[in-house]
Amino acid sequence: MTKKTITVAHGDGIGPEIMKATLKILEAAGAQIEIEEIEVGEKVYKSGFNSGIKPEAWDSLRKNKVLLKAPITTPQGGGYKSLNVTIRKSMGLFANVRPCVSYHPFVKTNHPQMDVVIIRENEEDLYAGIEHRQTDEVVQCLKLITKPGSEKIIRYAFEYAKSYGRKKVTAMIKDNIMKLSDGMFHQIFKEISKEYPDIEADHMIIDIGMAKVANNPSQFDVIVTPNLYGDILSDIAAEITGSVGLAGSCNIGENIAMFEAIHGSAPDIAGKGIANPSGLLLSSIQMLVHIGQKEVAEKIHNAWMVTLEQGIHTGDIYRDDLSHKKVGTQEFADAVIANLGEKPHTLKTAEYKSLPQIFKYVRKPAEPKDLKGVDVFVDDLKCTPDSLAEVLQSCQGDDMFLQVITNRGVKVWPQGFAETFCTDHWRCRFLGNDDKSVSHKDVIALLSRLDEAKVDFIKTEQLYEFSGKRAYSAAQGT
Ligand code: NAD
Repeated sequence: MTKKTITVAHGDGIGPEIMKATLKILEAAGAQIEIEEIEVGEKVYKSGFNSGIKPEAWDSLRKNKVLLKAPITTPQGGGYKSLNVTIRKSMGLFANVRPCVSYHPFVKTNHPQMDVVIIRENEEDLYAGIEHRQTDEVVQCLKLITKPGSEKIIRYAFEYAKSYGRKKVTAMIKDNIMKLSDGMFHQIFKEISKEYPDIEADHMIIDIGMAKVANNPSQFDVIVTPNLYGDILSDIAAEITGSVGLAGSCNIGENIAMFEAIHGSAPDIAGKGIANPSGLLLSSIQMLVHIGQKEVAEKIHNAWMVTLEQGIHTGDIYRDDLSHKKVGTQEFADAVIANLGEKPHTLKTAEYKSLPQIFKYVRKPAEPKDLKGVDVFVDDLKCTPDSLAEVLQSCQGDDMFLQVITNRGVKVWPQGFAETFCTDHWRCRFLGNDDKSVSHKDVIALLSRLDEAKVDFIKTEQLYEFSGKRAYSAAQGT
């Protein structure tokens, strides 16, 4: 087998220690890899690259298409950007896959049967990073859910279930509140699930869904969810298996993939030689499967489970009543190496089948859209809903009318409640008269009248119908 060159980043804190242990095991197991090292993280940040990565490192990633990355330390303050988010988004790594498995009775957990895979959307949602302070009192963060993003992650989740013989995919969303954004994710989930009749499709509202994962994870199999929910859920799920140090993850794109432990650089134990290398090792096992070396992946995974069964444990999972010997990072690696070729007795033997297929997104023809009005957001600390409405109505012109004013989404005019607390951030909805469509020119003319009336508008949102269906939320209380 020809050797595959992979890009390796040793990271910060415990990163170099756990990477050394992981690479030693990979070599002993006969992984056919060549290593090309790049530097990322704290030093790079501090040398003036505010994404923590140098331009030449991108070339290595583009060339090798596989990155094994140890955790890094993101310096606090100073406008530094998260390296992980930068790599995921710039390289189109749309799927974050986190298997969360219990190793009962060898690792202490309240959930002995747990075997859940979280598939988190990785590029959009609130992680689009589009934030604005709009008024003195209000800051906005945009949540972007897209058709391609949702379709790609949901299809990947079903393909993952198919490849790994899993029975059920559960979508977790909050479409009872975010009817358009999470609603679209849910709708696409329903459509794609029909293409996989052998896999059960289920959905849950994220809040109760997370509570159920925390309390009874064995009822779940594969979970697919937008970025922020997935971020929180996968940490909960990993933690309740027994230790955050045990979970690996991969970030998958159409061409490039990144493999990393889910934990951070653990500065509190860095340099002590006691960190658990298992999270990074399990990530590297996923990497071996990804590059077509699944026999080596199985061999390492089995040897690692045998080591757990023997009670040879690092400090984070060591328990007097369960463990046999407390070891440091490199000693743990040596124990795994000594077990290469062995199979676990109690834990399920590792067996890797085919890789999930990744489909290129096929763009569909755009639906026809029709402009019906505009939401004008206004900054005003002193007005009342009635005084603001009076000024706005004087500017509405012949083509549009002021329908409603809301504050933080709640209707305050007409007939608002005196009890509603108002900030300085008002959404003022203008619609075309008699349900007529409006034009960009109508909107510009309205804004110019508002400007003349000294209304401090801070942004606008167009109100569209797509294929004749209203595509904007109603005001609460209307
Ligand atoms: P952390 O995951 O580094 O540590 C949390 C706790 O878990 C600590 O007590 C630590 O000692 C322990 N722990 C973590 N990994 C362990 C392991 N392998 N073995 C034994 N114990 C382990 O989280 P944190 O303290 O919030 O973050 C530290 C730094 O890591 C921060 O700079 C943060 O930005 C960064 N971070 C990086 C990544 C990444 O690179 N993927 C992810 C998360 C956090």
